[in-house]
Amino acid sequence: MKHLILIMLLLMAMGCSAADEYTMLPEDCYDDEQYDEADQMCYLTCELDDTCEAAGLGDWLRDFTEQLGAFSFVGDDEPNVVILYTVDGNRIRDPVENEPLTDEEAAILDDTANHKVMWQQFANIIPQAQRMAIAKYGVFTDGEENTMAYVEPNPDDPTTWILVLDAADAVNQEEQTYTLIHEFGHVLTLNDNQVPFDENAYFAEDDTAVEEAESACPTFFAGEGCSRNQSYINAFYDRFWADIYGEWEAAEFDETAVSDDLYPQYEDRFLTAYAATNPGEDIAESWTHFVLYPKPEADTVAAQKVRFFYDYPELVTLRAQIVGRLYSQSRARER
Ligand SMILES: [Zn+2]
Repeated sequence: MKHLILIMLLLMAMGCSAADEYTMLPEDCYDDEQYDEADQMCYLTCELDDTCEAAGLGDWLRDFTEQLGAFSFVGDDEPNVVILYTVDGNRIRDPVENEPLTDEEAAILDDTANHKVMWQQFANIIPQAQRMAIAKYGVFTDGEENTMAYVEPNPDDPTTWILVLDAADAVNQEEQTYTLIHEFGHVLTLNDNQVPFDENAYFAEDDTAVEEAESACPTFFAGEGCSRNQSYINAFYDRFWADIYGEWEAAEFDETAVSDDLYPQYEDRFLTAYAATNPGEDIAESWTHFVLYPKPEADTVAAQKVRFFYDYPELVTLRAQIVGRLYSQSRARER
């Protein structure tokens, strides 16, 4: 009995500290942080300049990325989303449950505190105004590793998106952060303002509708639709993919693993092997490296893909916000 009480106290203490990482009071802020009323969080407010260096942010970011080993965050299985929430600003509400198919799924379904903590981690990293396209948030598990997270158009309104996270993978902070920024990169580059959603092509039962939509598209055709001329992904495609797209399509039609085909041939073009999967994964990986790593000097195409984002002032600002938030979050964890 004593042990049981001790365990319960321990669990309660753990639950509290996990939640406290993501909500704070104004008096919790450090001198260089500002309190965000809506998020109930303290955020570092410096830009990525000398003031941030003085605050130790540059060193922190280098240490952070050094912890990142090579890890895979993709699996093949069709995930069973055991719970799906509606996103309402910073909050999640109105959960809809799905039948759990395994003991692991039943366990993660019951752990509602963790659903909230995972959401808040994401919500605190990405400023609210930038993630308005994410209308739903779901939780699943396929065990550790395999698929860590994914995003997809929301079937109820495909101009919005669903973010789905694996509860079993939210254990390694660095990997989880990398994954969240990567997934957000998809929404940033494929949202309805960048790539107007094409219902007929996306939900097509056969290839004909897709091929028609693709041949009618004068810019890069993402699976979600025809990209706008000025979109990030169209500019990225023009610069880095147009010359190898034929090879990529041929490899895909062979149904061989595309990244295995393309990556060894063009290794210096890609930041990771996974980036060679398709232009959408490539821009998401390049975006993630842009956010988390220093500006590269190298002459390789891979380095150019990171520098690509520095041409967009709004993305340089967003990077500064995200990194400042990550830094504040990590300091909060140590408080
Ligand atoms: Zn991805």
